[in-house]
Amino acid sequence: MKYQSFVGLEIHIQLISKTKVFCSCPNHFGDEPNSNVCPVCLGYPGALPSLNEEAVFKALKVCKALDCYINEKVIFDRKNYFYPDMPKNYQITQFESPFGVDGFFNLELDDGSIKKIRIHDVHLEEDAGKMIHDGYQSRLDYNRAGTPLLEIVTEPDLVAGRDAELFVQQFRQMVRYLDVTDGNMEEGSLRCDANTSINLPGKGLGTKTEVKNLNSSRFVNKALTYEIKRHGKVIDKGGEIIQETRLWDEKTSTSKSMRTKEDSHDYRYFPEPDLPPYRVTDVLMKEVEDSMVELPNDRKKRYMDDLKLSFDQAAFITGERKTADWFDSLLSIGSDANQAASWLSGDIQKILNKEDVLLENSPFIPKRIKELFELINDKKISNNIGKEVLQAIFKEDKDPSVIVKDKGLEQVSDSGAVEKIVEEVLAAHPAVVDAVRAGDDKQVGFLMGQLMKATGGKVNPQMAREIIVNKIKLDISGDSQSRDPKIIEKGSEK
Ligand SMILES: [Zn+2]
Repeated sequence: MKYQSFVGLEIHIQLISKTKVFCSCPNHFGDEPNSNVCPVCLGYPGALPSLNEEAVFKALKVCKALDCYINEKVIFDRKNYFYPDMPKNYQITQFESPFGVDGFFNLELDDGSIKKIRIHDVHLEEDAGKMIHDGYQSRLDYNRAGTPLLEIVTEPDLVAGRDAELFVQQFRQMVRYLDVTDGNMEEGSLRCDANTSINLPGKGLGTKTEVKNLNSSRFVNKALTYEIKRHGKVIDKGGEIIQETRLWDEKTSTSKSMRTKEDSHDYRYFPEPDLPPYRVTDVLMKEVEDSMVELPNDRKKRYMDDLKLSFDQAAFITGERKTADWFDSLLSIGSDANQAASWLSGDIQKILNKEDVLLENSPFIPKRIKELFELINDKKISNNIGKEVLQAIFKEDKDPSVIVKDKGLEQVSDSGAVEKIVEEVLAAHPAVVDAVRAGDDKQVGFLMGQLMKATGGKVNPQMAREIIVNKIKLDISGDSQSRDPKIIEKGSEK
């Protein structure tokens, strides 16, 4: 690659909160258009904003997770521009002194290495309303106007579309862990603008273009990969990159120019006169710190280092915080990490996927799974019967011990009883017994299969296998006259 590429992201997340950021209208998605509005969020003359503390708290949590420097004195600013979805003709945002600056995010790359991505700032602002275009007319819904939006701006430390895709995925996972947003990209609660520039190595940043409103991490990758290539072609032909905002067209997999990119001074930012500067106190920061949770990458590392889980298992379990919390609570009541991880990522997940149910809403409560493991580990049921019991827990919403009792699934571990069944199986398959005796050990598996079939899988498999092998071996060393295991058995068992 002849050129060096630089990629930066601006990520907007809609914060979960009871009310909007500067008024007391509900912050709720999907209601009747223009039902959650008031003079403040509609920009009526004389209406005054007041700051929502819940949104502030969540903004500070994100700043903390990104290791930002927190400004003691936070200032809100007006960003002035006209657009119909914004009734005030300006947006209240932060410019000079936002909540957080100079943070970083540890991005895990595909090869497992960590790249430190610098965070320029984290600022709180209000979202605009929604325009619904319908043929020749456009309609406006201001329910979203004034809902709290947090913008996270990275430095141009990413180098390719794939990096940016990973960043969006890992960042989204982190903010979901923090419980500050649902991060639903399709519904727009996490939106991403991506900017990029290229230059010859050592020459620093080039002229950048921005692709706006990408609503999936895959599109972020595709749009950036396309733009980096486009920049290269333009420059190779002696052309010049124009600083502009572009739109990604998923249908054609190309970007097209939307408008030339404004500079920040075009917006005539000035401090919001209706909101006093906000002081972040030590008491508040202490509360924020106390509310922090172990972040996904730290948790994954802990699972691999301390619990010796594989990368795939650890990544799977930490994918969603609720899954990891479930896993931790199973371990806290005494279950083995490896057993828990392999059942969770295996049979439990298979059932949940098939039935389209989330773990936390399923009948698989940790206490029941612990009980299931105990039944297996104490050899009261076999592993295979355990899988059957798991299905029954889901279908019947009962404890495993009750299911085992109701269905008579308890394993036969009484050696006398097992021997009796083994004798019958051996007697029914004399040719196979001969083959085993001749050294074909694989045929023991066949006999085991027959045994399980005859007992509905309820025989303790280890014990059964031992008895089968012993009986056939004793036949060789014992009475060679008889090939009938039934006869052999009589005097040969200790
Ligand atoms: Zn309102």
